[in-house]
Amino acid sequence: MSEPDLIVVGGGLAGLTAANRAAGGGLSVLVLERGKDPDYFCNSRIAGGLLHVAFRDMTRPAEEIRASVAESVGEAGDPATALADLLAEDAGKVLAWLRAEGGAFVRGGAPEFMRWVLAPPRRRRGGLDWKGRGPDALLRRLTRNLAARGGELRLGSPVEALAVEHGGVAGVQTAAGTERARFVLIADGGFQDDPELVRRHLSPGPERLFRRGAGAGRGDGLAMAEAAGAATVGMDRFYGHLLGLDAFDNDKLWPYPTLDSLAAVSLLADGRGRRFSDEGLGGVFMANELARLEDPEGAAVIFDDRHWREDAADNRYPPALNPSFPAAGGRVFEAPTVGQLADILAMPALAETVAAHNAGRHRPARTVSRFPAKPIVEPPFRAIRAAAGITYSMGGLAIDCEARVLDREARPIPGLFAAGSATGGMEGGPRAAYLGGLAKAVATGLRAAEAMLAESGG
Ligand SMILES: Cc1cc2nc3c(=O)[nH]c(=O)nc-3n(C[C@H](O)[C@H](O)[C@H](O)COP(=O)(O)OP(=O)(O)OC[C@H]3O[C@@H](n4cnc5c(N)ncnc54)[C@H](O)[C@@H]3O)c2cc1C
Repeated sequence: MSEPDLIVVGGGLAGLTAANRAAGGGLSVLVLERGKDPDYFCNSRIAGGLLHVAFRDMTRPAEEIRASVAESVGEAGDPATALADLLAEDAGKVLAWLRAEGGAFVRGGAPEFMRWVLAPPRRRRGGLDWKGRGPDALLRRLTRNLAARGGELRLGSPVEALAVEHGGVAGVQTAAGTERARFVLIADGGFQDDPELVRRHLSPGPERLFRRGAGAGRGDGLAMAEAAGAATVGMDRFYGHLLGLDAFDNDKLWPYPTLDSLAAVSLLADGRGRRFSDEGLGGVFMANELARLEDPEGAAVIFDDRHWREDAADNRYPPALNPSFPAAGGRVFEAPTVGQLADILAMPALAETVAAHNAGRHRPARTVSRFPAKPIVEPPFRAIRAAAGITYSMGGLAIDCEARVLDREARPIPGLFAAGSATGGMEGGPRAAYLGGLAKAVATGLRAAEAMLAESGG
C-alpha cells in the first residue's frame, strides 16, 4: 500500500472497528498489529462477549442508559461523565453497526446485561473458551471486511513510536522504518500488562495481581502519545474481578468463575481478618481495593452455608461458583464455627469482624442499595482465598468526544486519535465504575473514524 490515510496501532475490536468504518467511508487504512499469529491474542478475542452499557440493554432509550451510567460513574460534574455519556448516546448505534458488519448475537440469559451476547456464546464453564466463540468470530469477520474494503492488517508489526512533525502526528515508527499517514489511531489495549505502569498507578505489588487477560496491553500507545505531548486521565482504576487465589496455579479458575457476586453479599477480609473495602460496590471495586493493599496476602471471602447454597449456586453466566469452583480444584475452607475458620485461615480479627458484620456495623461503610449484605450465621462457615484479577486499565489517554487525543492543555494533537482500552476518562473514578469494554471499544472506534472522515471532507 502506498501512504495510507490512516494507520491504526493495534488490531483489537477498537482498532478494527475504526479501520472498517474509515475504509468504508473511503479512507485507505493500514492496521499494524504486534501479534504474529492470525489468531493473535488480545482481550477482544478472549472476551466473554456480553455487549452492554452500564449493564443496560443496548436498545434502551439513551436517557435510561444515561441514568445507569450516571449512577455508576457518580455525581454530575465528575470529569468522567461527558465521555461516559457518549456510550449512552451511541449504544443503539454500536449494536446496529456490529450487526451490519455481520456480528451475530443471542440472548445469553435472563439478566438485562446478557441480552446481546456475541454468538456463538462461550460455554458455561470455567477457564478460557475463546476459539470460534462470538468475540473471536467477530474479529475474524471484521478482518475479512477490512480486506474486502481494501484495507490491510499487517501482523508482526509492533509500533515503537509516533512520527511527529510541526506539532502534529504524521505517522509511526516501526522496526522497518517510518510509515507516514495523515491520521494515527492508538488502539493498543491499555497498560495492564506492564508491571512498572501497574506499580505506578494501580498496585504496590503488580506480581500479586492475577493477569486476567490476553497479556497484550503493554502501555506502548500511552508511552508514544505521552512523548508527543498527550495527557492521561483516570489512571488509578482497572476493570477486573475477584478471583480465587488458586487461579495462579489452575487455568480452569480464570477468567471465570469469579468470586464477585458471593463477596458482594458476604464479606471480604484481609490477611488479619478485617474488612477493608465496600463489598456492596461489587467485584470490580473490590478487586481494585485488594490490589491497593500493601499486603494482600491471605485475603479471603468469608461466607456461610446459606451464601454457598443460594448466592454461590446462582447458575447464571459466568458459571456458578458452587459447584464449578471446587469441581475444578479450587480450595474452599470449611469449619463448624467462625472461630475455627479463623484458626484455619490464621485471621486473628475474623470473629470480631463477622460479629460486626452480623450486627450491621460496617466500617468501612457498606453500600446496600445494589447488593444487600446477608449475615454469616449458618454453619458450616466457609472461605475462599481471593486474588485481584486485572483485565484492563480503565485510565489512559485523554480524548475528547471525537476520540481526538488531547495534550496537557486539553487541545487536540493534530492527526492523533485513540480508542478502546487505550483511552481514559470514561470509566473508573471513586467507585471504579465499569461501563462495558466492548461497547467502549466500538463507540470510540466509530467516533474516531467519523471525525477523520469529516476532517477529510468524506
Ligand atoms: C476474559 C475477558 C472477558 C471480557 N469480557 C467482556 C465482556 O463480556 N463484555 C465487555 O464489554 N468487555 C469484556 N472484556 C473487555 C473487552 O474485551 C475489552 O475492553 C476490549 O476488547 C478492548 O478492546 P481494544 O481493541 O481496546 O484492546 P485489545 O483487544 O486488547 O486490542 C489491542 C491490540 O493492540 C495490539 N498492540 C499492543 N501494542 C501494540 C503495538 N505497540 N503495536 C501494534 N499493536 C499493538 C495488541 O497485540 C492487541 O491485539 C473482557 C476482557 C477479557 C480479557
